[in-house]
Amino acid sequence: MDTSKAPELAEFGRKVKKVMEDWFPFVQTLMTTSAYSPITKIDVFFDPDYDGVAYAAGTKIVGAVKYFKDHQDDFGAFIHEMTHSIHQARGCPGWVVEGFAEWTRRWFYEPWTEKRKPRADETYKSGYTNAAWLMVYINSKITDKPVMYHLNKLCQAGNWRDSIFEELTGKSADQLWNEMVNDQGYPWK
Ligand SMILES: [Zn+2]
Repeated sequence: MDTSKAPELAEFGRKVKKVMEDWFPFVQTLMTTSAYSPITKIDVFFDPDYDGVAYAAGTKIVGAVKYFKDHQDDFGAFIHEMTHSIHQARGCPGWVVEGFAEWTRRWFYEPWTEKRKPRADETYKSGYTNAAWLMVYINSKITDKPVMYHLNKLCQAGNWRDSIFEELTGKSADQLWNEMVNDQGYPWK
């Protein structure tokens, strides 16, 4: 945890470190497949010159000093980025990568926050919460292992194929999405 360029975030950095250490084993377990070499260390740096929120590059996570000075309650952003670092996505489509990161963040780390619902003109392909909704939906239809395990195994082995959804459920991702948004019993209806 490097707050050397942001002394005003030293205390926040200590809290982020604690949250990440507490959650690391759980996320690691979620992301582990037989095609996976686990990481053991993540470096976090607060950058005064970065204008976004946060990003992960391999096992390094960079947080924006400007953003976190005003958002010292946003630990979820680090759960999101930590998921990317642990995931080592390799061959995964972007929507799957961002879906996993929002899934660990919104469904596990901060389940009390309102999960953004898809707009009518969106699909799972916009990633983030939409993709996470689809994964949660598919998960409810699979009984052997979580869908994340099956998808990750392909990603981490560099074997991604869109047909994985048919293989797992008998339906394509598009079909599952349409079924989900029209399912009257689904939580947002
Ligand atoms: Zn992300």
